[in-house]
Amino acid sequence: MIVCPKCGMAKGVKANKKTTSCQCGREIDMSRVKIMFLTDSPMELAESVARANAALRGGEQLPREKKARSRSPYALAAESAKSAKDPLERLRIIAQELTRLKSGFAIEDLRKVASILGKNSADDMLARMLEHNMVYEAGEGVYRSV
Ligand SMILES: [Zn+2]
Repeated sequence: MIVCPKCGMAKGVKANKKTTSCQCGREIDMSRVKIMFLTDSPMELAESVARANAALRGGEQLPREKKARSRSPYALAAESAKSAKDPLERLRIIAQELTRLKSGFAIEDLRKVASILGKNSADDMLARMLEHNMVYEAGEGVYRSV
């Protein structure tokens, strides 16, 4: 993971790449930027990039490496959902968390959250999310929160 010198956004990049372009349009020379976080797990990488960018928006410090591996995005989504009493509000939180962490989620992702929460069925959760217009289908089997 690197941080763009122009806009400051974190980005996951393969370590063997020489250059990469940021979403802000900046061409980044990999030999000239500091590698902030190194991992061979794509999930861990996505998580740390999401965290770094969330921290950036919130003006917080970049979390230390060992913290980044402590929780899966599914556990985080399940945890946030538990704080809501209203079942629909819970679903909305799960949809938003999964969308934020993974930029779109599939039924398998929802199953992992459902298994952490225990009693919910992922198919029912998705059906209710769609019914209440909390999510839309962004691609084949990929959903995003509205
Ligand atoms: Zn940039």
